[in-house]
Amino acid sequence: MISENLHKIQQEIQDSCALVSRQASEVRLVAVTKSVDTETTRILLEAGAEDCAENRVEQLLSKKQALKDYPHVKWHFIGNLQRRKVKSIINEIDYFHALDSLRLAQEIQKRAEQPINCFVEVNVSQEASKQGIAVEEVEGFIHDLASLDQIRVVGLMTMAPLDASSSQRHQLFKTLKQIQQRIADLQLTHAPCLETSMGMSNDFPEAIQEGATFIRVGTALFQ
Ligand SMILES: *Cc1c(COP(=O)(O)O)cnc(C)c1O
Repeated sequence: MISENLHKIQQEIQDSCALVSRQASEVRLVAVTKSVDTETTRILLEAGAEDCAENRVEQLLSKKQALKDYPHVKWHFIGNLQRRKVKSIINEIDYFHALDSLRLAQEIQKRAEQPINCFVEVNVSQEASKQGIAVEEVEGFIHDLASLDQIRVVGLMTMAPLDASSSQRHQLFKTLKQIQQRIADLQLTHAPCLETSMGMSNDFPEAIQEGATFIRVGTALFQ
């Protein structure tokens, strides 16, 4: 049952926050609806979800259109965005979680009608297969975005490898949080960088303990 899953996850968010003396209101639950249809997404919205994430352009656009009677819902794009698709999606979303190249940023700059909330994706685990900017290049990359006035770096995003141990995940999330805080301390106008998007169904409690402010949860909502 979706509403039961949602309440269970909200409880787990509270419990994880309590462990580290955080407020549950600091954590935003982004429901990843990429694997379910519009009607299932509607049930989730009826149950109280306020943030939806998709990783396919066409699917986000058609769901958003079909669910326009929920105007308060925020739409997030997660995952790889091809440059040729930027134009059709960028003005339809509230957050983009996977900014990982200057060429993509330049295309967003060209197509955006207002500043776009972006998370810079960081490859903290240094896996060759993973998307994202290398840890040592994040600061330089963010400086390079300064001239693009339609890019607003709200935070950093990462994914832990599926086979990482619990202690490895804690370390990865802790590292992302440290980089985020270092960038935030620079007080860059175009990059307030106050947020971290980290934690999925299997590891969001650990991400919250390490300071996640956006968690992206799919499977656990719909199983
Ligand atoms: C699918 C996906 C998620 C959600 O993963 P679950 O394990 O289903 O919770 C989160 N983030 C990204 C980038 C994804 O592609």
